[in-house]
Amino acid sequence: MVSKLFDYDVIVIGGGHAGVEAAHAAARMGVKTLLLAVNLDTIGAMPCNPAVGGPGKSQLVKEVDALGGVMGIAADATYLQMRMLNLSRGPAVQSLRAQSDKREYSAWMKDFMESLPNLTIKQGMVTRFLVEDGKASGVELAFGERLTAKALVLCAGTFLEGTIWIGKQTQSAGRAGEFAAIGLSGCLKELGFTMDRLKTGTPPRIDGRTIDYTSLPIVPGDDNHAFFSFLDNRPAREQLPCYQTRTTEKTHEVIRNNLGESPMYSGMIHGVGPRYCPSIEDKVVRFADKDSHSFFLEPEGRSTFEVYLQGCSTSMPIHVQQAIVKSLPGLENATIIRPAYAVEYDYLPAIQFSHTLMAKEMPGFFAAGQMLGTSGYEEAAAQGLIAGINAVMYVRGDNEFVLSRASSYTGTLIDDLVSKEIGEPYRMMTSRSEYRLLLRQDNADTRLTPMGREIGLVDDHRWSLYEKKQIGIAGERKRLQSVRIHPSAEWQATLREFDEELKQPATLEELLRRPRVPYSAIEKMSPASESCKFEWSLEVETEVKYAGYIERQKAQVKQAERLDNVKLPLDIDYTKMENLAKEAREKLTRIKPITLGQASRIGGITPADVSVLLVFLEARRRSGHVQELLTV
Ligand SMILES: Cc1cc2nc3c(=O)[nH]c(=O)nc-3n(C[C@H](O)[C@H](O)[C@H](O)COP(=O)(O)OP(=O)(O)OC[C@H]3O[C@@H](n4cnc5c(N)ncnc54)[C@H](O)[C@@H]3O)c2cc1C
Repeated sequence: MVSKLFDYDVIVIGGGHAGVEAAHAAARMGVKTLLLAVNLDTIGAMPCNPAVGGPGKSQLVKEVDALGGVMGIAADATYLQMRMLNLSRGPAVQSLRAQSDKREYSAWMKDFMESLPNLTIKQGMVTRFLVEDGKASGVELAFGERLTAKALVLCAGTFLEGTIWIGKQTQSAGRAGEFAAIGLSGCLKELGFTMDRLKTGTPPRIDGRTIDYTSLPIVPGDDNHAFFSFLDNRPAREQLPCYQTRTTEKTHEVIRNNLGESPMYSGMIHGVGPRYCPSIEDKVVRFADKDSHSFFLEPEGRSTFEVYLQGCSTSMPIHVQQAIVKSLPGLENATIIRPAYAVEYDYLPAIQFSHTLMAKEMPGFFAAGQMLGTSGYEEAAAQGLIAGINAVMYVRGDNEFVLSRASSYTGTLIDDLVSKEIGEPYRMMTSRSEYRLLLRQDNADTRLTPMGREIGLVDDHRWSLYEKKQIGIAGERKRLQSVRIHPSAEWQATLREFDEELKQPATLEELLRRPRVPYSAIEKMSPASESCKFEWSLEVETEVKYAGYIERQKAQVKQAERLDNVKLPLDIDYTKMENLAKEAREKLTRIKPITLGQASRIGGITPADVSVLLVFLEARRRSGHVQELLTV
């Protein structure tokens, strides 16, 4: 596809979770792609927790997989343990979480990327962006090499002007042991971008041989556990346990006595950290009423004795870290082999980007991941996929690929990022979506795989599995609606295990609609046909049991779509609209929303402001301005 002018169609900067999804999507869609990383041996690296998934995040992984992305496949191929969280709660918040073998995950990802047609991988540090006629046109690397491309996707994580902190000591680094990307922020500012600073932290790694597990609660994986990918080749692996320990009064005393040593509390770090991933200092100070916080001991891999002390993220000096660790039950004699630290880095506020993750003011320049203010492998992967797809659409001059909030957590994530001014690293949670009953893990393929197929990212094998599932589910729904049960002794006996007896004949669906009758009871008495796999039953059961709620959410979607169908011309001068609140004028001018729906979701925009905009658009239409309605 490369026109004679460019070395590549797409250059992706960064081999992290965003970069690999972006590069994979572009190469898989058939364009000539280059992936650049500071160190090729850290492709797919997990610099923080050795885990994929969990609440809000597993939904993203399932969506990436459903669209034809990679993270779900990699997580299934390299897990140490799988657990379904929130099982006691409803299907909208149940979330799969994998403990991952970090080294295997990164090695698997590098091998996979090296096997892709259309993809070249190079080690190199980008120091400048090349721009021609206001459009992105390439990169310059340290040591002077210049590479040109029609589209660039920046996925540089925590590396831009990265500084790591341990106590009051600092080191220039993107993360421990890796160079920071120096100078690129300056280049972006020269190109007119606004930059800001964020911070995140990671806990110490412990030598597992120095931990006394005997008295610690064990946290095993699930038997018959679920998988992330909707693909079928997912070999089961031997699972390793995690363990739990807790802080003690001694731990809290050590922290309170050394708060002044923490760069966070001495105000030396300016970047804002993730509220939902607080450091242990934060927890002890903010939740002073709690006399103990739980930590998880998570193995980092099968061929290492490194253990991740989940929950103990800190930037305290080493001697304080050691005192904290030794105050924990089971770790009295433990040795820290990698100290905890915080990293502060530059990021690009995402309100400068559109829903395609292309810069509003620079065609051909895309960004994704931690770079845009999120925290987490899964959030990065979802953005990387969308940015990669849209880089290809841009190169080809095709239509933009934008996911709505009603279609996915990925759409919700990106709409939040480009519409709301985030003040801290954004982490996905199920509570961020107003449609979480529609956006469950189990139906991500039903929602998204057809879209992935349309853009050429879903191959024939994945498509045939998708079709088989849809046929299986439709067949099962029909069977449940048509098979009528009479109150036989056998049926009554089964029903009594879960619920009241049958008073009159009922269809299987009517039985399944009963809150206390699980699908397994139906399955026991009237097994499904071969064509409906048991793992699909969750989707069937949820659609039947929550039919009323699901209908209500679908009506909400229709309601919201009405506002999202009203386009806001980009030439509106909001500063002149006196009926708008002052805050609204400022925010609308800064964010330039493209629809009334997006405007209504900007923090600080009131329903009154939305009405003012509606009246304004109507007056504009009457005065002969053509009011465009988005056709979706
Ligand atoms: C210390 C630390 C603590 C963290 N804590 C948490 C946490 O508690 N919770 C959580 O959810 N997430 C946490 N994370 C974040 C998580 O690691 C990231 O969210 C995730 O890795 C982001 O993926 P990414 O692809 O955006 O960037 P990264 O995974 O950071 O990858 C960036 C890539 O860009 C490359 N790169 C950077 N600059 C250049 C350049 N100039 N030229 C070429 N290549 C370049 C790097 O080599 C790397 O391959 C933490 C990360 C770190 C470092």
